Amino acid sequence: MTTSREIHLAARPRGVPRPTDFSLVEVDVPDPAEGQVLIRNAYISVDPYMRGRMNDGRSYVPPFRLREALTGAAVGRVVASRNERVPEGTWVVHDRGWRELALSDGTGLLPFDPSLGPVSTGLGVLGMPGLTAYVGLLDVGRPSEGETVFVSGAAGAVGSLVGQIAKLKGCRVIGSAGSPEKVEWLRELGFDEAFDYREADVREALGEGIDVYFDNVGGPTLEAALAALRPRGRVVACGAISQYNATELPPGPRNLFLVVTKRLRMEGFIVSDHYDRLPAFVTEVAPWVRDGTVRYRETVVEGIEHAPEAFIGLLAGENVGKMLVKVGPGS
Ligand code: NDP
Repeated sequence: MTTSREIHLAARPRGVPRPTDFSLVEVDVPDPAEGQVLIRNAYISVDPYMRGRMNDGRSYVPPFRLREALTGAAVGRVVASRNERVPEGTWVVHDRGWRELALSDGTGLLPFDPSLGPVSTGLGVLGMPGLTAYVGLLDVGRPSEGETVFVSGAAGAVGSLVGQIAKLKGCRVIGSAGSPEKVEWLRELGFDEAFDYREADVREALGEGIDVYFDNVGGPTLEAALAALRPRGRVVACGAISQYNATELPPGPRNLFLVVTKRLRMEGFIVSDHYDRLPAFVTEVAPWVRDGTVRYRETVVEGIEHAPEAFIGLLAGENVGKMLVKVGPGS
């Protein structure tokens, strides 16, 4: 028996989450029973989709329960095992995060090979956000060489990889983000154009027009992108973070009829339907990450007690690249 700390949902947030919506709880964790493993988490992932799970409504994943530990992605090391398929010492990515220690029956654990890079990348550029960028851009957006790709939320975990893959595939790339520092980073990454959506007129910033819009934010940026799309353009509907804290849903883009007149294709996707693409993703992207062709950043908050602040900070745009909380040993 040992103790672990975990983050519980204390109250369902209304609008922007507050620290009092969460609580830090210490719990006893028993030794693993036959078939179980004990994982000491190194990092827990802070993800925008968790905001939706804090509401009590139907969605593609069930809501979090009140006064129970939040669950989310984490990467950790197996420190005790009574499951021969997952020996002690194995690094695993799993979905029992937002706690320091996780007991698992071994199902749903994805081994992470530390020779690929720091284990933190298993939650970011080489993990779920990376696969989201890869599948969304290549399978849903299907850009051709020479086309112009616009990505919003471009300095985030998903967006920064979307832009870099699009460049590697021979596209012209435009990115939007919420601060001058982020815009500067996008230029360093090789984006052809980058702008601060809080300052710029988005439609004007999209100039002559775009062929693919990778939408991470929804709202007014989506409306401007629809106006800028060329005939037979595509919208990759990945997320709508500008609306996640809304207490009443805002009216949709006023110009949606452009989908008809310009023969646009707008397609949503959920990354968990595409895990069959993980091997192709790792084969293509991991070498780019290893040799520095693809660059990534992480914003790391130390200590599980600060996870709620990290989550609130993510929604306010405080992260550059992937937002993580370090909760235990590991690179
Ligand atoms: P990010 O690392 O991009 O972090 C979120 C960012 O969103 C913030 O840094 C902030 O950056 C931006 N943001 C916050 N509020 C607004 C706003 N009102 N308008 C515009 N931007 C805003 O997160 P991820 O890369 O993890 O996720 C990006 C998107 O992809 C999210 O919408 C998420 O829900 C979605 N997603 C979808 C998946 C799927 O399967 N469809 C899987 C994973 C993610 P800034 O400073 O630029 O405002």
